[in-house]
Amino acid sequence: MSARAVFLDRDGVVNVDHGYVGRWQDFEFAPGAVDAMRRLQEAGWLLVVVTNQSGIARGYYTEADYQALTARMKAELAAAGAPLAGVYHCPHHPQGSVAAYAQDCDCRKPAPGLILRAAAELGLTLADSVLVGDKASDAQAARAAGVGRVVLVAETADAEGAAIADAVAPSLAAAVQSGLLQPSRVIPAAVRAST
Ligand SMILES: [Mg+2]
Ligand SMILES: [Zn+2]
Repeated sequence: MSARAVFLDRDGVVNVDHGYVGRWQDFEFAPGAVDAMRRLQEAGWLLVVVTNQSGIARGYYTEADYQALTARMKAELAAAGAPLAGVYHCPHHPQGSVAAYAQDCDCRKPAPGLILRAAAELGLTLADSVLVGDKASDAQAARAAGVGRVVLVAETADAEGAAIADAVAPSLAAAVQSGLLQPSRVIPAAVRAST
Protein backbone atom coordinates (compact mmCIF):
# COMPACT_ATOMS: atom_id res chain seq x y z
CA MET A 1 0.00 0.00 0.00
CA SER A 2 1.53 3.27 -0.99
CA ALA A 3 0.72 6.71 0.22
CA ARG A 4 0.76 10.23 -1.10
CA ALA A 5 2.57 13.01 0.65
CA VAL A 6 2.78 16.74 0.69
CA PHE A 7 6.48 17.51 0.86
CA LEU A 8 6.95 20.80 2.64
CA ASP A 9 10.04 22.93 2.49
CA ARG A 10 10.52 24.31 5.99
CA ASP A 11 11.91 27.87 5.99
CA GLY A 12 9.55 30.16 4.10
CA VAL A 13 6.74 27.60 3.94
CA VAL A 14 6.13 26.10 7.40
CA ASN A 15 7.86 28.92 9.27
CA VAL A 16 8.84 32.48 8.54
CA ASP A 17 12.30 32.51 6.94
CA HIS A 18 14.27 34.73 9.27
CA GLY A 19 17.51 33.33 7.80
CA TYR A 20 19.32 30.33 9.30
CA VAL A 21 16.70 29.51 11.91
CA GLY A 22 18.49 27.08 14.20
CA ARG A 23 16.91 27.61 17.58
CA TRP A 24 13.34 27.41 18.82
CA GLN A 25 13.27 31.02 20.04
CA ASP A 26 13.83 32.11 16.42
CA PHE A 27 11.18 29.78 15.01
CA GLU A 28 7.86 31.35 14.05
CA PHE A 29 5.17 29.39 12.21
CA ALA A 30 4.06 31.13 9.03
CA PRO A 31 0.59 32.70 9.33
CA GLY A 32 -2.06 30.02 8.79
CA ALA A 33 0.49 27.29 8.15
CA VAL A 34 -0.42 25.05 11.09
CA ASP A 35 -4.12 25.14 10.25
CA ALA A 36 -3.35 24.47 6.59
CA MET A 37 -1.24 21.46 7.55
CA ARG A 38 -4.02 20.13 9.77
CA ARG A 39 -6.44 20.38 6.86
CA LEU A 40 -4.03 18.53 4.59
CA GLN A 41 -3.59 15.80 7.19
CA GLU A 42 -7.37 15.49 7.48
CA ALA A 43 -7.61 15.19 3.69
CA GLY A 44 -5.37 12.13 3.79
CA TRP A 45 -1.97 13.56 2.93
CA LEU A 46 1.13 12.52 4.81
CA LEU A 47 3.09 15.61 5.85
CA VAL A 48 6.82 15.36 5.17
CA VAL A 49 9.27 18.20 5.73
CA VAL A 50 12.35 18.34 3.46
CA THR A 51 14.78 21.08 4.40
CA ASN A 52 18.27 22.32 3.54
CA GLN A 53 20.03 23.23 6.79
CA SER A 54 23.42 24.46 5.64
CA GLY A 55 23.55 26.51 8.84
CA ILE A 56 24.88 23.30 10.39
CA ALA A 57 27.76 23.05 7.90
CA ARG A 58 28.39 26.79 8.24
CA GLY A 59 28.69 26.50 12.03
CA TYR A 60 25.77 28.84 12.75
CA TYR A 61 24.07 26.16 14.85
CA THR A 62 24.73 22.52 15.62
CA GLU A 63 23.03 19.32 14.61
CA ALA A 64 21.87 19.06 18.24
CA ASP A 65 20.34 22.56 18.05
CA TYR A 66 18.57 21.52 14.87
CA GLN A 67 17.28 18.30 16.42
CA ALA A 68 16.01 20.15 19.51
CA LEU A 69 14.14 22.64 17.33
CA THR A 70 12.72 19.82 15.22
CA ALA A 71 11.44 17.98 18.30
CA ARG A 72 9.59 21.12 19.42
CA MET A 73 8.20 21.73 15.94
CA LYS A 74 6.95 18.13 15.69
CA ALA A 75 5.36 18.28 19.14
CA GLU A 76 3.55 21.55 18.38
CA LEU A 77 2.24 20.24 15.08
CA ALA A 78 1.13 16.91 16.56
CA ALA A 79 -0.72 18.76 19.32
CA ALA A 80 -2.45 20.87 16.65
CA GLY A 81 -3.67 17.81 14.71
CA ALA A 82 -0.98 18.07 12.03
CA PRO A 83 1.52 15.33 12.88
CA LEU A 84 4.53 15.02 10.60
CA ALA A 85 5.18 11.62 8.99
CA GLY A 86 8.82 12.56 8.58
CA VAL A 87 11.37 15.36 8.70
CA TYR A 88 14.40 15.07 6.41
CA HIS A 89 17.24 17.56 6.40
CA CYS A 90 20.52 18.17 4.61
CA PRO A 91 23.20 19.48 7.01
CA HIS A 92 25.82 19.84 4.29
CA HIS A 93 27.38 22.60 2.24
CA PRO A 94 30.40 22.27 -0.04
CA GLN A 95 31.98 25.41 1.45
CA GLY A 96 30.98 24.73 5.04
CA SER A 97 33.32 25.56 7.90
CA VAL A 98 32.47 22.42 9.91
CA ALA A 99 34.63 19.70 8.38
CA ALA A 100 32.21 16.85 8.98
CA TYR A 101 29.53 18.59 6.90
CA ALA A 102 31.65 20.42 4.31
CA GLN A 103 30.99 18.17 1.36
CA ASP A 104 29.12 17.71 -1.84
CA CYS A 105 26.14 15.48 -1.24
CA ASP A 106 23.09 14.08 -2.97
CA CYS A 107 20.62 15.53 -0.47
CA ARG A 108 21.03 19.30 -0.69
CA LYS A 109 18.18 20.59 -2.84
CA PRO A 110 18.07 20.99 -5.88
CA ALA A 111 19.29 17.38 -5.59
CA PRO A 112 16.43 14.93 -4.99
CA GLY A 113 18.07 12.88 -2.21
CA LEU A 114 15.86 13.95 0.70
CA ILE A 115 12.67 13.29 -1.27
CA LEU A 116 13.88 9.92 -2.54
CA ARG A 117 14.90 8.84 0.95
CA ALA A 118 11.51 9.83 2.35
CA ALA A 119 9.71 7.98 -0.44
CA ALA A 120 11.69 4.79 0.20
CA GLU A 121 11.29 4.91 3.97
CA LEU A 122 7.62 5.91 4.02
CA GLY A 123 6.41 3.97 0.97
CA LEU A 124 5.28 7.05 -0.95
CA THR A 125 4.07 7.22 -4.53
CA LEU A 126 5.91 10.28 -5.79
CA ALA A 127 3.75 10.79 -8.86
CA ASP A 128 0.73 11.17 -6.57
CA SER A 129 2.57 13.52 -4.22
CA VAL A 130 2.96 17.28 -4.14
CA LEU A 131 5.79 19.54 -3.06
CA VAL A 132 5.30 23.00 -1.64
CA GLY A 133 8.43 25.12 -1.62
CA ASP A 134 9.49 28.72 -1.93
CA LYS A 135 12.58 28.55 -4.12
CA ALA A 136 13.59 27.27 -7.53
CA SER A 137 15.82 24.68 -5.83
CA ASP A 138 12.74 23.19 -4.13
CA ALA A 139 10.94 22.90 -7.46
CA GLN A 140 14.01 21.44 -9.15
CA ALA A 141 14.42 18.79 -6.44
CA ALA A 142 10.76 17.82 -6.80
CA ARG A 143 11.01 17.54 -10.57
CA ALA A 144 14.21 15.48 -10.33
CA ALA A 145 12.51 13.09 -7.90
CA GLY A 146 9.37 12.73 -10.02
CA VAL A 147 6.97 14.45 -7.63
CA GLY A 148 3.64 14.87 -9.42
CA ARG A 149 2.93 18.49 -8.64
CA VAL A 150 4.92 21.49 -7.52
CA VAL A 151 3.49 24.57 -5.84
CA LEU A 152 5.64 27.56 -4.95
CA VAL A 153 4.56 29.83 -2.14
CA ALA A 154 6.20 33.20 -1.94
CA GLU A 155 5.07 36.78 -1.72
CA THR A 156 7.42 37.32 -4.62
CA ALA A 157 8.10 33.95 -6.26
CA ASP A 158 11.40 34.09 -8.09
CA ALA A 159 10.97 33.92 -11.84
CA GLU A 160 13.12 30.81 -12.22
CA GLY A 161 11.05 28.90 -9.69
CA ALA A 162 7.74 30.14 -11.03
CA ALA A 163 8.70 28.87 -14.47
CA ILE A 164 9.19 25.34 -13.11
CA ALA A 165 6.19 25.23 -10.76
CA ASP A 166 2.67 24.13 -11.65
CA ALA A 167 1.17 26.85 -9.49
CA VAL A 168 2.20 29.83 -7.38
CA ALA A 169 0.42 31.11 -4.28
CA PRO A 170 1.30 33.73 -1.68
CA SER A 171 1.51 31.22 1.19
CA LEU A 172 0.87 27.62 2.21
CA ALA A 173 -2.39 28.75 3.78
CA ALA A 174 -3.46 30.42 0.55
CA ALA A 175 -2.48 27.38 -1.53
CA VAL A 176 -4.63 25.09 0.63
CA GLN A 177 -7.45 27.62 0.74
CA SER A 178 -7.58 27.86 -3.05
CA GLY A 179 -7.61 24.08 -3.52
CA LEU A 180 -4.20 23.83 -5.16
CA LEU A 181 -3.38 20.74 -3.11
CA GLN A 182 -6.49 18.72 -3.76
CA PRO A 183 -5.59 15.19 -4.93
CA SER A 184 -5.33 14.96 -8.67
CA ARG A 185 -7.95 12.82 -10.34
CA VAL A 186 -6.72 9.32 -11.06
CA ILE A 187 -7.04 8.49 -14.73
CA PRO A 188 -7.47 4.76 -15.42
CA ALA A 189 -4.61 3.34 -17.47
CA ALA A 190 -6.95 2.24 -20.26
CA VAL A 191 -8.26 5.76 -20.72
CA ARG A 192 -4.78 7.23 -20.57
CA ALA A 193 -3.54 4.80 -23.22
CA SER A 194 -6.31 5.76 -25.66
CA THR A 195 -5.68 9.48 -25.50
MG1 LIG B 1 12.60 27.76 1.84
ZN1 LIG C 1 23.29 16.90 2.07
